[in-house]
Amino acid sequence: MHCYECSETGESREAVGLCHHCSAALCAEHIFAITDPMIAQVPLSKEITLPKRARVLLCRTCKAALEQARRVA
Ligand SMILES: [Zn+2]
Ligand SMILES: [Zn+2]
Repeated sequence: MHCYECSETGESREAVGLCHHCSAALCAEHIFAITDPMIAQVPLSKEITLPKRARVLLCRTCKAALEQARRVA
């Protein structure tokens, strides 16, 4: 599979992963790996953030969109 971002500019690079949000294939240059905090619901308490974070692969479009949503929240 080839990188979606590269194909938009007429290039052809091998993809290394997929965007978690839009499923676009992305090359090493265009992929972003962020860490997502894991929240657990605990009875009597409220929510706790677990020490290990999950990895989420994103394209720059979805990364920007999610960051914008987080700023508002
Ligand atoms: Zn690319
Ligand atoms: Zn995406």
